[in-house]
Amino acid sequence: MSRFFSEKYIDLEPYVPGEQPRNQQYVKLNTNENPYPPLPEVTKAVEEASRKLYLYSDTECVDLRKALARRLEISPDELLMTNGSDEILNFAFMAFCDKHTPAYFADITYGFYPVFAAINRVPYETIPLRDDLTINIADYYHKAGTIFIANPNAPTAIALRAREIEEILKRNPYNVVIVDEAYVDFGAESCVPLIRKYDNLLVTQTFSKSRSMAGARLGMGIGNPELIRDLNTVKYSTNPYNVNSLTAAAGVASLKNDEYNRENSLKIMDTRDQYGRKLRELGFEMTESQANFFFARHPEIPGEELYLELKKRGVLIRHFNAERIKDYNRITIGTPEQMDRLVEEIKAILEDRK
Ligand SMILES: *Cc1c(COP(=O)(O)O)cnc(C)c1O
Repeated sequence: MSRFFSEKYIDLEPYVPGEQPRNQQYVKLNTNENPYPPLPEVTKAVEEASRKLYLYSDTECVDLRKALARRLEISPDELLMTNGSDEILNFAFMAFCDKHTPAYFADITYGFYPVFAAINRVPYETIPLRDDLTINIADYYHKAGTIFIANPNAPTAIALRAREIEEILKRNPYNVVIVDEAYVDFGAESCVPLIRKYDNLLVTQTFSKSRSMAGARLGMGIGNPELIRDLNTVKYSTNPYNVNSLTAAAGVASLKNDEYNRENSLKIMDTRDQYGRKLRELGFEMTESQANFFFARHPEIPGEELYLELKKRGVLIRHFNAERIKDYNRITIGTPEQMDRLVEEIKAILEDRK
């Protein structure tokens, strides 16, 4: 730390992203990226947009919002585009939380929530998951602040039904409820159809996972126009050009053939069924995943050891040190070829331990 760093950030512990190795030596199953690349049309749209890089990007993302609104069956004024969904989540902490309106979220959930709370100096309370890592919705009734729920949750991969989230919405009419749907396209129920019924609902989604665009940084907030207006006030006070023109063009092109993205999600769900079975046969215990990753533990190998052993053998998965989940690892669902390699290395590791 330099002697100039503001004292307000002295205790700030930044979010730690999964490793992004510079070379291609790893089978990379550690950051929940999509294993299938975007279509050539997306690349071409980016190239075309690059000719206009001398101009500022469209602050309103008009074309993109129009295309997405059609896709989500909402109106463009119910939509705000951001630099990844991390940015809309940060905006939500800025717009809807303060020292009188704390944040509430699960004890085991997306690791960025406590960091956003800290940098915005928002107090927060964590709500423990049950022993089986599921959310007890009654724990979220009648809160005195803003609620954040990742659905499906990360890193547990477990989803609530939309009607369960609706029970939470009904019992928090004076609070904003943010539903982070980063993984919703892999089989869970979306709460987007509820935004007109509940003016306290903000849904966030991303192009990073189900649309193969993690590197482009494109996310969104979906909610009633007044919530969106508040979030726009925050956006125009921090970075009006938050979505660059290459990313916006990539987003429009990606939506032109959203069927391709949909098919990839189905493929990943299929791989999930198939390799979930194989890992269970090898002795793994895992949650019922409705996302593009497994959350799994093996009774014979400590979580960290498995992570390190696999890394030595060229397969990267994600391990978290938090006490409650230190036996587990989060494993991104890749292509069947990548998953074969994973299974093969795990078999070898188990064999070596005999
Ligand atoms: C990946 C992820 C996000 C955000 O990803 P972006 O790339 O910033 O859109 C948000 N929430 C959860 C739970 C995630 O796993």
